[in-house]
Amino acid sequence: MGRVTETIDAVAALVAAGGVVVVSGAGLSTESGIPDYRGPTGVARRHTPMTYQAFVGDAAARRRYWARSHLGWRTIVGARPNAGHRAVARLQDAGLVDGVITQNVDGLHTAAGSGRVVELHGRLDTVVCLGCGDRTSRGELDRRLVAANPGFDAAFAVVNPDGDVDLDDDRVAGFRMVDCGCCGAGMLKPDVVFFGETVPAARVARCFAMVDAARAVLVLGSSLTVLSGRRFVLRAAKSGIPVVIANQGVTRGDGYAALRVDAPLGRFLPVLADRVAAVVPPGSGLLAAVVPPGSGLLAAG
Ligand SMILES: [Zn+2]
Repeated sequence: MGRVTETIDAVAALVAAGGVVVVSGAGLSTESGIPDYRGPTGVARRHTPMTYQAFVGDAAARRRYWARSHLGWRTIVGARPNAGHRAVARLQDAGLVDGVITQNVDGLHTAAGSGRVVELHGRLDTVVCLGCGDRTSRGELDRRLVAANPGFDAAFAVVNPDGDVDLDDDRVAGFRMVDCGCCGAGMLKPDVVFFGETVPAARVARCFAMVDAARAVLVLGSSLTVLSGRRFVLRAAKSGIPVVIANQGVTRGDGYAALRVDAPLGRFLPVLADRVAAVVPPGSGLLAAVVPPGSGLLAAG
């Protein structure tokens, strides 16, 4: 127990020095009800993840994707930021976090009030036409899909706790996909990076620039399984920038971490933000943004 406190104090001291870049993953959003397929408590993925190649090359696979996604959308659209997202936004308001690189496609950092967020893998609430490049909102597509598939939702009212849906082939075959509302012919794809697809180079370059300018990198809720996120940890470690990893379970970046916290982020991050408020020097102007005056929390330091 004492060791945990010491670790939190060490993380707080690092964060209080400012210049932090957050790298976040699915583990930060699990407490918002968004499934984490790779985490220790995550349910093993029952279906092979959709690859970009299958999506664009196989009409049946594409229909299956959209039919399942149409039903699973309720889970995503209903999700709200949790205490972890809000704590990150508080630290950013306090001027201690310079930016957020997220692997999540749920938009919850922005919803919690964070700015300078790079959404590495795109956003699920945006749809792109692979024909003409037009981008539209998922809400708009959802209305069109509901209209094109009357009664489809009702037939599948039961969505599994992990947000997944079981759909047999007959049901999928009955699902009607719609084309781009702009060019009328293009294939629609969620504006997210699929497996087998690369993150746009300019986006990666922006993230590397953020990491290079950072005083510390704080990884939140990522097992760093995929190189897409792990490369930022490798980059920081190579430059001698301290890396802190807070995640439930081991990660592929643990060997590079100066500090490691294994805890649910919705509980850990608010504690961290409070602890940071206690170590930030009074009169720095940062304190008021983190802890409201008169809240009584300052005495705890
Ligand atoms: Zn189009």
